[in-house]
Amino acid sequence: MSDRFDQEHLWHPYTSMLKPLPTFKVKRAYGAIIELDDGRQLIDGMSSWWCAIHGYNHPELNQAVQKQLEQMSHIMFGGFTHDPAIELGKLLLKITPPSLDKIFYADSGSVAVEVALKMAVQYWSAQGKTQKTNFITPRSGYHGDTWNAMSVCDPVTGMHQIFGTSLPNRIFVEAPQVGFYEDWNQHDIHDLAQHLAQHHQSIAALILEPIVQGAGGMRFYHPEYLRQAKRLCEKYQILLIFDEIATGFGRTGKFFAWEHAQVEPDIMCIGKALTGGYMTLSATLTTQKVAETISQGEAGVFMHGPTFMANPLACAVALKSTQLLLAQDWQSNIQRIQQQLKQHLLPLVSLDYVQDVRVLGAIGVVELTFNVDMKSLQAEFVKRGIWVRPFGKLVYLMPPYVISSEQLESLLIQLVGVVQSMDREVA
Ligand code: PMP
Repeated sequence: MSDRFDQEHLWHPYTSMLKPLPTFKVKRAYGAIIELDDGRQLIDGMSSWWCAIHGYNHPELNQAVQKQLEQMSHIMFGGFTHDPAIELGKLLLKITPPSLDKIFYADSGSVAVEVALKMAVQYWSAQGKTQKTNFITPRSGYHGDTWNAMSVCDPVTGMHQIFGTSLPNRIFVEAPQVGFYEDWNQHDIHDLAQHLAQHHQSIAALILEPIVQGAGGMRFYHPEYLRQAKRLCEKYQILLIFDEIATGFGRTGKFFAWEHAQVEPDIMCIGKALTGGYMTLSATLTTQKVAETISQGEAGVFMHGPTFMANPLACAVALKSTQLLLAQDWQSNIQRIQQQLKQHLLPLVSLDYVQDVRVLGAIGVVELTFNVDMKSLQAEFVKRGIWVRPFGKLVYLMPPYVISSEQLESLLIQLVGVVQSMDREVA
């Protein structure tokens, strides 16, 4: 069923070219529906990896792209500026932490992370603290696949083994253990506190995903961790970077996840749902202080400038997507999705091969006791008319916000059916 050219020549994410996993050819997609080439329709449970929050083929987003296309699809950002970048910037400053004031547009989440890390190093070097070049980060994190982003991903589930010493050596601390809904335990911050006390002179920044550790394990942790981490960063003069690339734009029930803790970072990365999943765009935001310090340094400038920086098409659709979200009662909608996810998924915890079930906002996670066979599971989901892409021990959902209650109900009934029928295979 997979396309032959595709299988022979096109490399898919994290895939072997010798034994590529099957791919399903998509003809079109609209709302929460993905239509395959053979006419089958799938209910989308993934939002194309956290992005397509308004669903696919949204008339207003289409129109925003078309309108911008008539003006220009792209223009270099060196020496030029344009309304889509300016209007999007104004809106982003309204919805991100008040202390953030400067915006660097980049082209993907990974690049936004690279930019954040570079900002942190330049910030300290501008003050003559040239030894502050390393980064500290909790285990089970995920920040992207480019070189330095990869270096701060979890060293076990990440790609450290394959890339070995070619990766810079970062300082890893224990991942937060206290769950989002549990009672805080002061022990959770000890490892970070200890490592900061020991290594702070060489550390430029602490980087983490606030509240939800995504691709590193879909873990939800306690907001107090962020409050205490912030205090430690202030104590030891370390910048705090929040990677909100996955958590942004309502997914966790707050517009951005920092709001759960009311802790403001020095640098914040956003991406993915920024354009409603229409095209790639990210942004790294920082404070006046960080920006001014970098600009007063020896270089006098921030040393980064991607070709497609602030691409007008991407900025135009990002502006419309964000306006669209803000114009609706998105909190109630996320609550609705959260309710339904809880109702159907939480009972699965009684199965002896289910380790844990957790739900936060529009994210539902079923953690199994074993690694799933992605190939057969994926085929089973498609057979049942749903699109869910598990990884490792995790079967999880993050549907587009436009999913109707009926569609979500079907998606959940099918998913639960598949998880329950694993019983026979496990036994
Ligand atoms: N940070 C986080 C938290 C992410 O989830 C991702 C993507 N899964 C990235 C960074 C990297 O983004 P991109 O794939 O757009 O480079």
